[in-house]
Amino acid sequence: MTDGRGLPSAIAVDALLSIPYRSCEGLKGGLGVLEPRTGVTVSNHNSVQELYDRVTPLTPLTAKTALSNEDIMRYSRQLLVPQLAVQGQLNLSKTSVLVVGCGGLGCPLALYLAAAGIGRLGLLDYDEVELNNLHRQVLHGEENQGQAKALSAAQALKRLNSTVECIPYHLQLSPQNALQLIQQYPATTPPPPFFVAGKPLVSASALRLEGQLTVYNYHGGPCYRCLYPVPPPPETVTNCSDGGVLGVVPGIMGCVQALEVLKIASGQRTSCSQKLLMFDAQDAKFRSIKLRPKKADCAVCGEEPSVTQLVDYETFCGSAASDKCRRLNLLSRDQRITVQEYKSILDKAEPHLLLDVRPLVEVDICRLPFSLNIPLSCLEERKLEDVQLLKSILKSANVCLLCPVYVICKLGNDSQKAVQVMEKMSGSEVDAVTVKDICGGLMAWAKTIDSTFPQY
Ligand SMILES: [Zn+2]
Repeated sequence: MTDGRGLPSAIAVDALLSIPYRSCEGLKGGLGVLEPRTGVTVSNHNSVQELYDRVTPLTPLTAKTALSNEDIMRYSRQLLVPQLAVQGQLNLSKTSVLVVGCGGLGCPLALYLAAAGIGRLGLLDYDEVELNNLHRQVLHGEENQGQAKALSAAQALKRLNSTVECIPYHLQLSPQNALQLIQQYPATTPPPPFFVAGKPLVSASALRLEGQLTVYNYHGGPCYRCLYPVPPPPETVTNCSDGGVLGVVPGIMGCVQALEVLKIASGQRTSCSQKLLMFDAQDAKFRSIKLRPKKADCAVCGEEPSVTQLVDYETFCGSAASDKCRRLNLLSRDQRITVQEYKSILDKAEPHLLLDVRPLVEVDICRLPFSLNIPLSCLEERKLEDVQLLKSILKSANVCLLCPVYVICKLGNDSQKAVQVMEKMSGSEVDAVTVKDICGGLMAWAKTIDSTFPQY
């Protein structure tokens, strides 16, 4: 899962969900882990770690029947907890967990699962470590920049607990590899995807100062599709690169995920099935609301499921199943200009108005000095003072000639929405005006025109 509030990616999880995404299974021999080996072998800190780039068979996890003296010493503080005790610890050692995404949630999650002595950890991530990850993705360090996240995470976990089997997968979960993944399960007859429902999925998200967590597919509880039968419009979904997140918030939610996984894996019950746990970091408050029960007519887990195979979830959701920056395409080519075209407008000193529609918090980070800032939300709400300001500026500009407005934002998504709003306003709420979007926004400007402009 991403650490944004990415419903699309979570829905992408849905089939895979019913097929366990982040799943854990205790007691019965473990979740045949997914992906397998091919690989690049990397040496680090005296340990050798393989990086898997596709799904191949894994050997079954060896079940411990007793704890060694070293186990007893290592886990002594948690063995004293009556709810866990020796049997719970043995159950953990027989459990395989797939962690989907070694990011803000996956790092603390995997860290505590490894520390607690989970048997096998599949660590799946298609991305590489970047500097802007480090404030929340705390398994990675500065020296890991450019390295596959899955491998960086596996190496860090090995340093913490070398007895845990870590399997780093450098790939993106997809309908193709998810099916292969299911076939890895120890259960002999590979069942069709819809039939595999029932593996618990401990799912969490975090954005800005809020977090959420739910356990799906647990003991007759609802699956993801029971609760979210259709994806939201892609332009309404915000992720961490758009909306921001305070690093400790996914840290807290990842720890709660680890807690629920450990409870399920050790043989206790989760308290989060059919519930949505919500964390408000501003007020330091958790609250939980009850969710709808399993739907008898659910398309995936219902009595007569209509989704019987995995679909292309990116098409289904109209959005990428990642927390990389999304690119919307709301306008036609003639409603947009490139950053190069805008640069030449500047060079020729052609009169125009540059409208920056980012929120103030982003304008404070960086801005082009000659821009007017009116956040998209203020345009959408037609905030009186902003409309007045726009009106007066356009009026004075239009005295000399029909002055075009170029709209810019961080990445060129909000600016397209702003162009649509401005076109509605043009000729009625403000003087008639030509409005165009600057493709790719300020980040395209930073990449191709001005390398000294900060990227964020
Ligand atoms: Zn369902």
